[in-house]
Amino acid sequence: MIDFHCHLDLYSDPKSVVGECAERGLYILAVTTTPSAWEKSSALTAGRRRMRSALGLHPQLARERRSELELFDTFLPQTRYVGEIGLDGGPECKSHWSDQLYVFDHVLSSCRSAGGRIMTIHSRRAAGPVLDRLKLFQGSGVPILHWYSGSLSNLRRAIDLGCWFSVGPAMLASERGRALAAEMPLDRVLTETDGPFARIDDREARPWDVEIASTALASLKGLDRQEVDAITHENLRRLATLV
Ligand code: MN
Repeated sequence: MIDFHCHLDLYSDPKSVVGECAERGLYILAVTTTPSAWEKSSALTAGRRRMRSALGLHPQLARERRSELELFDTFLPQTRYVGEIGLDGGPECKSHWSDQLYVFDHVLSSCRSAGGRIMTIHSRRAAGPVLDRLKLFQGSGVPILHWYSGSLSNLRRAIDLGCWFSVGPAMLASERGRALAAEMPLDRVLTETDGPFARIDDREARPWDVEIASTALASLKGLDRQEVDAITHENLRRLATLV
């Protein structure tokens, strides 16, 4: 199983979550929300064969943490994975839209200069502008739209631009999320939880809850869960060869 977008460092006991993931043989991409969290978060996955950490600056923190972009550039050579990055067009974030654009553009430009990165991207209420930036900064790497919730027409645009997608239990619990996932090319889909932010039945999502996403994807695509797991593992293997 694969959790390609979780916030390991934000669990109350990250080490026990990492231990359980290792025991279950999960593949993990631990994203971070600020460059200053990188060292601690990457230490959690260091030496774990199936776990990697991503260097990020979350769009909701763009105004507060844009001063950390220098730190972002300092750490970037240490990793092939970047996230969580992106744009958020929600009402509480719209007021610092210019900071968000400044940060996202800087990150994409740095990734491009570094030869490209695997990027896990937030695009809540901002799918159109996220795709515009990705197009402008072609060569920044492989974009993976995490928990995509935009329009069907922007989803088609994302597919044409070469985007990948990660889908989780919370997204697939809604009719709309399932309709979007049904349109995604399965050879560019990975599973995720977005735990502990995302919730399942009123508790924090944990990385092994990706099983719920695999099962939901299987029923959407008319496959069994083992087939979906085989496809997502093959996707993960191929993704690693792209950057
Ligand atoms: Mn997240």
